[in-house]
Amino acid sequence: MIALMTKAEGIIIRTTNYGENNKIVTLYTEEFGKIGLMARGARKPNSTLSAASQVLFNGLCLFQKGRGLGTLYQAESLNPFRHIREDIEKTGYAALMIELTDRLTEEQKPFPGLYRLLKNTLLLIDKGTDAGVIASIYAIKMMRVAGIDPEVDRCVHCGRRSGPFVFSVSGGGFLCPDCAGEDPYALPLSGAAIRLLPLFKHIPVNRIGRISLRHETIKEIEKMISTYYEQNAGIRLRSQRFIDQLSKFRTD
Ligand SMILES: [Zn+2]
Repeated sequence: MIALMTKAEGIIIRTTNYGENNKIVTLYTEEFGKIGLMARGARKPNSTLSAASQVLFNGLCLFQKGRGLGTLYQAESLNPFRHIREDIEKTGYAALMIELTDRLTEEQKPFPGLYRLLKNTLLLIDKGTDAGVIASIYAIKMMRVAGIDPEVDRCVHCGRRSGPFVFSVSGGGFLCPDCAGEDPYALPLSGAAIRLLPLFKHIPVNRIGRISLRHETIKEIEKMISTYYEQNAGIRLRSQRFIDQLSKFRTD
């Protein structure tokens, strides 16, 4: 059997030390989705793979795919994401996006457009667009990948398009005033959050400009997102706890 080399662009979303010198890395690519690769010698100080074996590495990778674990041979960086790495809040939000990608995808099952979405949203954070806003947009778009896309354009029960809506986590979207009784636990969202959710869901990433929102509005949307993932996908996001801790130190 001839094992062929493959070249693909990707982002490292997880790493695990293996043995004294090696790392097992999880690379997210457009063509293959998520793949596990052995990076031999990556923990040695002068290894050519040491930079490529860090979470958030984005580059062109040369590897051999295996039935289980493949092997990473070379990697060339495309985006250093320097501003993300230098800022603890940006790093926290990037970690949240990477955690979602890892936990909501399966090995070698590509999802069209997801790699580009992850890369382009990370680039926006690196260029200075509000990290909390971008991470929330990414998290809402990822709900479709997870198969739990919420209805935020109309009432999920009767289809009515006018609010004021409440948000039903168990019902999967907005409920209008007539149907609000369907879910006694529905979350009462602010008018700002109700207007932003459809925008976040539908906006193409290349149309996102400078957005600045009140801190409370973003925290409200983040809370809704983490409750939604917890109840509908059964995942508790570790990175969200870190972000919540950080925001306690904000002075504005
Ligand atoms: Zn209704």
